[in-house]
Amino acid sequence: MDIIFASNNRHKIREIKDVLKGPVRLIPMADAGIVEDIPENETTLEANALVKARYVYSLTGANVIADDTGLETESLKGAPGVHSARYAGENKDPDNNITRLLRELEGHENRKARFRTVIALIYENREYLFEGIIKGMIINERRGIAGFGYDPVFIPDNENLTFAEMPAERKNMISHRAIAIRKLCDFLQSRL
Ligand code: IMP
Repeated sequence: MDIIFASNNRHKIREIKDVLKGPVRLIPMADAGIVEDIPENETTLEANALVKARYVYSLTGANVIADDTGLETESLKGAPGVHSARYAGENKDPDNNITRLLRELEGHENRKARFRTVIALIYENREYLFEGIIKGMIINERRGIAGFGYDPVFIPDNENLTFAEMPAERKNMISHRAIAIRKLCDFLQSRL
């Protein structure tokens, strides 16, 4: 079974392929001839993922998946959420994003946060959503150099290390994205 992934992010493609077993072939959208950046201007992760999946589906008619992820904090009522990539500006600078996050959280005792990934699947002309959540907390200083994005300030519940201090294998086993991908894979495998 071929599924087009509405992204050209090699890191994500690798991560999904590591979980996807069986006769599913994941095709980066560039390999399907789609090279443009699809706009992500919606107000929810679900809507963003669906917009991207529908766009690729409209061009190819193939089975397709698309994902969107955000960091949601309790004290900031869900922010940065759908704005996570551009929290500190259009250039998507991860270090500036962390600086803004720590500034906004100053004075807040509640540091609870979660990463949430939504994967949209269009399969045999029907739409499905899969969600992965990992809960944790935001610490005040950066720790670790692995990973990306907000990893240096996020410690998952029941762990001592930030995502950026963990070996990639550990993060990729417990992460929001891994949870959503496993749900997607279970669904696909039940259809084979
Ligand atoms: P995307 O939807 O996967 O592109 O994620 C949007 C933004 O969320 C990224 O630009 C990062 O700022 C943040 N993000 C997503 N996944 C992670 C993660 O695993 N660790 C840290 N930050 C992440």
